[in-house]
Amino acid sequence: MTVEHAAALLARSRSVVALTGAGISTESGLPDFRSQGGLWAEWDPQEVATLRAFRATPQRFYDFYRHRLAPLATARPNEAHYALVRLEQRGSLRTVITQNVDGLHQVAGSQRVLELHGNLREAICVECGTVGPIAMILEALNQGDLPWCPSCTGALKPNVVLFEELLPEATYREAERTCRRADLLLVVGSSLQVTPAAWLPQVAHQHGAAVVIVNDEPTPLDGLARVVLRGRAGVVLPALVRAAESPDAQRDSQR
Ligand code: NAD
Repeated sequence: MTVEHAAALLARSRSVVALTGAGISTESGLPDFRSQGGLWAEWDPQEVATLRAFRATPQRFYDFYRHRLAPLATARPNEAHYALVRLEQRGSLRTVITQNVDGLHQVAGSQRVLELHGNLREAICVECGTVGPIAMILEALNQGDLPWCPSCTGALKPNVVLFEELLPEATYREAERTCRRADLLLVVGSSLQVTPAAWLPQVAHQHGAAVVIVNDEPTPLDGLARVVLRGRAGVVLPALVRAAESPDAQRDSQR
């Protein structure tokens, strides 16, 4: 299973979909969750990433989000994000489905991005659903206050999906539809341990798409992938896109 094999698949595919996870942004300086040194090595998800924790110990919850938001202010997309932009501009990549909340695909220039787990650009009121800029939370915290909704005085949280919360249904349905139509699903930087996002490669596979996984570590779905490329996304993905543009890959794709 080589880059050349994956490149030939990519060169012949007309409807590529990417499914990305936190691993695509580690080379931008944003830690993932489950790697060594990931966020869960330092923080207990039960204390900071659940709706119950948000209601029970908001200060600890906001400490975690301040910790996540600080590096985001200066984080820039890396070569892996740009490789996906290039694929979209060449016309083969239809959609990026991401579990990330960092917004780096859009900063890089990806046009069609489905955010399965929300984003850190916005704040949302857990009572009335009012949405506003994340600055509403940061400004309150910087003044030593907890952030409250200006409309109903409910509590504001970052507009991300917490454990115990449902994914935005319309976005997930659209992601499923996109995977059913794909001829290649490119998974990048995800442990594929969080459902329902981790079901999407199976949806694509069942509908005839080839699955290519680019990840540092093994995933539970490596067995259904046509090609697994182990390595850093910022190195492997640009090399894959370059290889797909090579005359060899173009020739192989005609066979
Ligand atoms: P995860 O932490 O479970 O898995 C990340 C995977 O990426 C790991 O298997 C790791 O080996 C791999 N990886 C790390 N750096 C890599 C690199 N440079 N190149 C290739 N592979 C690399 O993350 P996940 O699967 O996305 O888990 C889902 C949850 O993580 C989502 O809820 C998502 O919202 C959240 N998350 C997002 C961010 C972000 O927005 N940047 C950061 C942390 C967590």
